[in-house]
Amino acid sequence: MAKPKIRIATTSLAGCFGCHMALLDIDERLLELVELAELDRSPLTDLKRCTACELGIVEGGVGNAENVHVLRELRRSCKKLVAIGACAINGNVPALRNRFDLGDCLEEVFVTGLGVTDPKVPGDPELPLLLDKVHPIHEVVKVDYFIPGCPPSADTIWAVLTALIEGNEPVLPDALIRYD
Ligand code: SF4
Repeated sequence: MAKPKIRIATTSLAGCFGCHMALLDIDERLLELVELAELDRSPLTDLKRCTACELGIVEGGVGNAENVHVLRELRRSCKKLVAIGACAINGNVPALRNRFDLGDCLEEVFVTGLGVTDPKVPGDPELPLLLDKVHPIHEVVKVDYFIPGCPPSADTIWAVLTALIEGNEPVLPDALIRYD
């Protein structure tokens, strides 16, 4: 009898979707993946709520109130949580703004920056509230596994995913670990 598929949720917080693209770079192994797992909440399914999952995979840092909400939902729903990519692990690109005052950043982007035609900081209440700083996800929730890289290679992601799906601890050779 076929083994039951495990459920996996993924999300991109303050990220560029590059880590999700790297996941898709496993190419024909995607066919193997769909035999082993089914996707829950994910940018790839467009589901907006998370149900009980074995695995949650988080790309991106935590830069606004919605990021905090989504991250906590994944933590509550997933037995194991994986930080994928440098933004989730240390803030990386979105955290470049951390050296500056948030108000100054908004002023530069929306009021005084090059090419601005309607100088006004957006104030729509539907927009998620920005945090003063971008945080790595482990500062907000407990994280079980980290996959470094910007983005990690498809081979690295595959090695970690298959180990976790099989119920094993991922052990990566040096060749699959990078920090760029
Ligand atoms: Fe994009 Fe790199 Fe951040 Fe992944 S780690 S979300 S590829 S900037």
